[in-house]
Amino acid sequence: MNLNSPLLEVKNLEVSINENQILNNLNLTINKGEIHAIMGTNGSGKSTFSKVLAGHPAYSVINGTILFKGSNILDLEPEERSNLGIFLAFQYPIEIPGVSNEDFLRLAYNSKQKFYNKQEVDPIEFLGVINEKLKSVDMNPAFLGRNVNEGFSGGEKKRNEILQMVLLNPDLCILDETDSGLDIDALKIISNGINNFMNSEKSIILITHYQRLLDYINPTYVHVMQEGKIIKTGSAELAKELESKGYEWLKN
Ligand code: ADP
Ligand code: MG
Repeated sequence: MNLNSPLLEVKNLEVSINENQILNNLNLTINKGEIHAIMGTNGSGKSTFSKVLAGHPAYSVINGTILFKGSNILDLEPEERSNLGIFLAFQYPIEIPGVSNEDFLRLAYNSKQKFYNKQEVDPIEFLGVINEKLKSVDMNPAFLGRNVNEGFSGGEKKRNEILQMVLLNPDLCILDETDSGLDIDALKIISNGINNFMNSEKSIILITHYQRLLDYINPTYVHVMQEGKIIKTGSAELAKELESKGYEWLKN
């Protein structure tokens, strides 16, 4: 771990799945304290990129490097990357029947406590920890007793992802279309939760199609992905330009 290196450095990343190359010479550097929005047409590889960062086993990295806090993470399992401080909020959160949300969250929290040689908490102590986090995303405690995401509405699943994020306290948060499926009030609450969570030691990758999220969360940079690479980088203004002009004008 090198404290002076960028939080994330992705160089010449090439990724394939089932013989199809999806990411193609992707480069991205993220420093602490930065929020990077990634936009781009459907199928351009945004979710693939987020899953590769988190260590999804279905994808093969055929070339390139991913350095997190200065160390190569390509050989690390998803849980090891999570312990080091990488968090992915899924575009399509999965349901886990038979596992209560409360148990799931406590086990995830305790495995990270254990990794850092910190005291694990029992179920009673955990309620104290989680209650404060529930407030930050304005979530009803009743969701703790339900099975993970089972029968949750689209917006409730997204809120549950952000609850996991604030609980696990990662350094790099990758939020894949967390705004989709949220009504306006939920969007404001979740944006608020994300803004309160953000600080100069953390970084966020926000994958989104909509300027409306960026009205609440101000990105340091906006990137456009196309055909598996970043084809344009700009300031928050770029997202406004894309909103009015679409993506067609970027094709060369
Ligand atoms: P985005 O999130 O930008 O909409 P994705 O990363 O989900 O795009 O998908 C990028 C491309 O990869 C798409 O063309 C998609 O069909 C393809 N892809 C994703 N998963 C698979 C898979 N398991 N097998 C074949 N192609 C896949
Ligand atoms: Mg996607």
